[in-house]
Amino acid sequence: MAQLPIQKRGRGNNGGGEPSSSGTATASTNQLPIIPTSTGTLTDELAALFECPVCFEIVLPPIMQCHVGHLVCSSCRPKLSCCPTCRGTLGNIRNLAMEKVANNLMFPCKHKQTGCRVSLGLNEKAEHEEVCEFRPYSCPCPGASCSWQGQLEKVMVHLQHAHKNITTLNGEDIVFLATDINLPGAVDWVMMQSCFGHHFMLVLEKQEKCDGHTQFFAIVQLIGSRKQAEHFAYRLELNGNRRRLTWEAMPRSSHEGVASAIMGSDCLVFDTSIAQLFADNNGNLGINVTISVVC
Ligand SMILES: [Zn+2]
Ligand SMILES: [Zn+2]
Ligand SMILES: [Zn+2]
Ligand SMILES: [Zn+2]
Repeated sequence: MAQLPIQKRGRGNNGGGEPSSSGTATASTNQLPIIPTSTGTLTDELAALFECPVCFEIVLPPIMQCHVGHLVCSSCRPKLSCCPTCRGTLGNIRNLAMEKVANNLMFPCKHKQTGCRVSLGLNEKAEHEEVCEFRPYSCPCPGASCSWQGQLEKVMVHLQHAHKNITTLNGEDIVFLATDINLPGAVDWVMMQSCFGHHFMLVLEKQEKCDGHTQFFAIVQLIGSRKQAEHFAYRLELNGNRRRLTWEAMPRSSHEGVASAIMGSDCLVFDTSIAQLFADNNGNLGINVTISVVC
C-alpha cells in the first residue's frame, strides 16, 4: 500500500521539493532510478554506438565490423586498409545484432547542433535531413563562386554585404528587367523580390552550348525551406508585340537551389529568337514576375 504513491511521485517530479511523509522517505531512496527509454540519455548513448569513427555519420546496415567488433561505415570502409580504431584487419564480418538494433532505434537528426530536435528511424532519417529546417543554407546566388553557408536568418544579411549589386523590388507583381541580353557567353541576371514577408531570388541564366545554340532559363527561388516554398506559386511572363509566353510553378527552396531545375528545364526556357521577339531595340528584356500565396 505504501509503495504506490512514491513511485508516482518519483516519475512525476524527479524527487523535487515536495514533502514526503516520514513513513515513505526510506522506501523512496531504495527505489531504482527510472531509465528513460523513448527519448533521452539511453537512446542517445545507443545511437552514439553507431557513429563512424572516420566521418562521424551513422553506420547504416549492412553493418560490417573488424575482428574485434569495431564498426566503420560502408562509404569509409573501401578507403581503409585496417580498422581505424584498433588497426586490426577489416574482414567481411557482418554484425546482424547491431543491424537489428539500428533498425529499431531512433537517431537524432544530423542538424541537431544547429537546433533540430527531431529523432527518426533509419528509413525516414535521410529524407528528413534533406528538407530539415535546420540544415545550413548555402548562398543562393547562381554559379559556384560563393561558398558561404549559414542559418536562414543570415542569408539576407549575407546577400546585402557580399552581393551588394543585387537590387530588390518590393511587391508581389514586378518587372524583372534583364539588360543587354545579347551579351556573349554565359551570363546570369539576378534580382530580389520582397513580398508576403519573404524574399525571392529571380534568376535569368543564359547558356551557350558548344554548337552555338543559346538558351535562356528563368526561375524563382524562395529564400527559405521547401516547406515554406510550398505556400507560394510564381508566374513568369514574357509579353509584348501581341505575344505572350507564360510559366507557372512552385518556387524552388534555398535547399534545392536553382541549378538542378535549370539543368532539367523545370523553369521558363526560351531561345535567342524568342528572346528577340520580346526584347526592346537595346536588348533589354522585361519579365513580369508575379508571386502568389497558395492555400
Ligand atoms: Zn564513415
Ligand atoms: Zn577494430
Ligand atoms: Zn532535422
Ligand atoms: Zn554569396
